[in-house]
Amino acid sequence: MQTRLLPNLVSAAKIQRADEILRKCVHCGFCTATCPTYQLLGDELDGPRGRIYQTKRILEGEPADRETQLHLDRCLTCRSCETTCPSGVDYAELIDIGRHYLEQQDLRPWPEKVMRQLLGSVLPYPGRHALLFRSASYLRGFMPAFLKAKTPVIRSTNTYPDYSMPHRGKVLLLEGCVQKTLSPNTNAAAESVLKAMGYQVIRETKQRCCGAVNEHLNQHDKAMDWIIGNLQQWQRLNSENEIAAIVSTASGCGIMLKDYAKILKPHPAEAEAYQSLLTKIKDISELLDAEVLLNNLKRFSPSPSRIAYHAPCTLTHGHQLADHLYNQLVALGYQLELPRDAHLCCGSAGTYSLLQPQISVQLRDDKLRTLEDSAPDMIITANVGCEHHLNSATSTKVIHWIELVAGDL
Ligand code: SF4
Ligand code: SF4
Repeated sequence: MQTRLLPNLVSAAKIQRADEILRKCVHCGFCTATCPTYQLLGDELDGPRGRIYQTKRILEGEPADRETQLHLDRCLTCRSCETTCPSGVDYAELIDIGRHYLEQQDLRPWPEKVMRQLLGSVLPYPGRHALLFRSASYLRGFMPAFLKAKTPVIRSTNTYPDYSMPHRGKVLLLEGCVQKTLSPNTNAAAESVLKAMGYQVIRETKQRCCGAVNEHLNQHDKAMDWIIGNLQQWQRLNSENEIAAIVSTASGCGIMLKDYAKILKPHPAEAEAYQSLLTKIKDISELLDAEVLLNNLKRFSPSPSRIAYHAPCTLTHGHQLADHLYNQLVALGYQLELPRDAHLCCGSAGTYSLLQPQISVQLRDDKLRTLEDSAPDMIITANVGCEHHLNSATSTKVIHWIELVAGDL
């Protein structure tokens, strides 16, 4: 694609990167076929090719308007288009640059600005969102149906076996911020499964937000505070413990953690200082090894339930681990049902479900229809956001896959 980007609209590094990405796009449109918002809204401007074109246009100096911002806001950043693209276009990085530029133009109406500020100041802080979620859960009985559906249910924690197996290294298990409040059981289950595979687990109970909430709301400076704070803390723990892996159980947070390397590129000193630490970041599915687990626990007996497998976009298109996890779970003996259009987003997408509720609900209901086609006993997923989003509209149990495995240890 030919480009004539203006050099001073955003930083020189961002313009250069946007230019590189845009030049890779050959406008073939293959990506539109797998884009959930294009499928739903049927508008080229709400598909990846249209959003790429709009980003190019504004970075070439054409007037930025609210309409363009709306089309870019409607993108879930699910990266399904990246998986489909034959030219390897880094769509998500490009759209972030476009969104960042639009944010600087101050086009949003004030209620949206307030909402975004609120989300950025509450969600990353466990003390604040725990207070909010707990208060809301006490008031559930008095709420109208639409508000009740938006209020997440805080799940309890189970007790799992505490194995001690031949030592395979130490892992730093990140507890997450929203997950620690809403689904603490996921962390308890993860610790039990990791120990059953021979890992010594260090729980990072003081972990701060990964920065995803603020980064995706274009509050980059705040996101950088989280990122640097986390890296300093992990560096300290790593020098004390020789950590083999830094493990996230939420695929959405995990992909943000893996993106630290990209985000730190314009900061060469930090990028170099934390380079080796960044290579240790893993989604928990990368550590699941069916052979080791079956070998360590000879009597492991997988649940006979019918299980529908919902691989989040961050696991499928971000980490590219959806098939790996599926294969490991099948090797453990689970019978998994794959839904139609498994590549499509469930509409959770971080704060998207709060900022674009109509599209989010449509995608959720479509996803639940396909997942429940096989009349499963439960749905498993790999991200706290998807878990609670799907849970809000079904009576079928929705849990993180690690809880399924831990329950069978
Ligand atoms: S992003 Fe990729 S798939 Fe989409 S139009 Fe460009 S080259 Fe084609
Ligand atoms: S990231 Fe997802 S929603 Fe956004 S353009 Fe790509 S496929 Fe569509």
